[in-house]
Amino acid sequence: MRVLLLNPPGERIYIRDYFCSKTTKSNYLFHPIDLVMLSGIVASRHEVAVLDAIAERLGVEAARARIEAFAPDAIVSLVGSVSWPEDRAFLSEQAARGRRVLAIGDVLHEKAALRVVEETWLEAALGNFVGADALKILERRYEDVHDSVVRREDGRVEVLHARGKLHGSYSIPRPRHELFPRSGYHFSFARSEPFATILTDWGCPFPCTFCVMSTLGYATRPIADVLEEVDHLRARGVRELFVMDQTFGVQRKRALELCAAWAERGDLSWTTYARPDRIDDELCSALARAGCHTLMMGVESADPAVLASYEKRYDTADVRAGFARAKRHGLRTVGTFIIGLPEETEESIRASLDLALELELDFMSLNMAVPRFGTPFRRRAIELGLVDEDDLVMDQGGAEAKLPTQALDRATMLALKKRMVRRFYLRPSYLWRRVTAARSLFELRAQAREGLALLFRNV
Ligand code: SF4
Repeated sequence: MRVLLLNPPGERIYIRDYFCSKTTKSNYLFHPIDLVMLSGIVASRHEVAVLDAIAERLGVEAARARIEAFAPDAIVSLVGSVSWPEDRAFLSEQAARGRRVLAIGDVLHEKAALRVVEETWLEAALGNFVGADALKILERRYEDVHDSVVRREDGRVEVLHARGKLHGSYSIPRPRHELFPRSGYHFSFARSEPFATILTDWGCPFPCTFCVMSTLGYATRPIADVLEEVDHLRARGVRELFVMDQTFGVQRKRALELCAAWAERGDLSWTTYARPDRIDDELCSALARAGCHTLMMGVESADPAVLASYEKRYDTADVRAGFARAKRHGLRTVGTFIIGLPEETEESIRASLDLALELELDFMSLNMAVPRFGTPFRRRAIELGLVDEDDLVMDQGGAEAKLPTQALDRATMLALKKRMVRRFYLRPSYLWRRVTAARSLFELRAQAREGLALLFRNV
């Protein structure tokens, strides 16, 4: 079978992956991890091509022509709530040309059966990108599917969840990074190019109620599989990695083993996510020796009551300790915040900014609260009447305020978020620190480009 893995064209630079979708916050665009992981799985049994129309900046016409040239029997495509009308139009046209269309994305993560019934061009909504669901559905072997919805050849729509969410361990054939475009991707924290995006686990074991990762289950890849992939990348000259694990280090023994193996290689340079309450001195030291230079960790809010009620399972004391520890080991820190939750007020935003300054973050990343599909927070937002259940279109990247808070309307919330960005990034002392911390002209240029794009979106 000829199978095309597709990131469809869009009017803007969309990031559609891992059950999230958004426009880029600054200028970054990393490899769509869903397609990266699926590339190894599907290519193990079929002829596969990748078309990332976003990375290649292809418009609808050009993307259409490239698909015609490959003439796939089936398309496995990303979709997203940020681009749902565009995605539906583009993919339904491909289905009308006789191609089977399987899709994965946030907008299909909730009420997937209803979506497949409604969208008659859609053969299947995939519930994961690391199991064999895509392969089995392509081959019409429906037994033992983890968690997907399929339209059978006779038109019946069936929910297949024999195995449910992924837990434990999973093994996949080596992702085929070589099928992806060599240029068009940018990663804000990369210290050199080319970089690759990899994933060594799946989902997250924590229950934070606003986060889609908490809805996916949690599983890890065997270390040998990860090393095979990384060594293949190194052989192709890739040394810089974005390790997309959401809580690196949560399985401490495994994380230390992985770090030891990467430290032995001695030539890797990478960024990942971690929880501030899960990094101790031994792990920080192992991360630094393994080439990790940047840790992204959740601060979320300066209000301990918010942390507790959204089930973060750590408090601001853990946050302060974790960020201080990472800094002591020479790791750059990115503090991620969720702002615009129903409890948000002007005062609480000011307190979060004060905390960001106190932590001396290297970078601050603000995520506007959005009712992500499948999350407990979405159910609450619907109950509170803050969002219409049938409204499927939203940008999760913070370019807009999807929800009002109990005290702030959407326009005020957005204005406060923009002010917070400017106050953090436009401090002369901060700008000087960034310039003097850059290790190369590449890094300086990349940060200037990202910074300008970020400020441009927040004037
Ligand atoms: S916010 Fe972080 S720790 Fe919480 S569920 Fe999401 S990925 Fe896991």
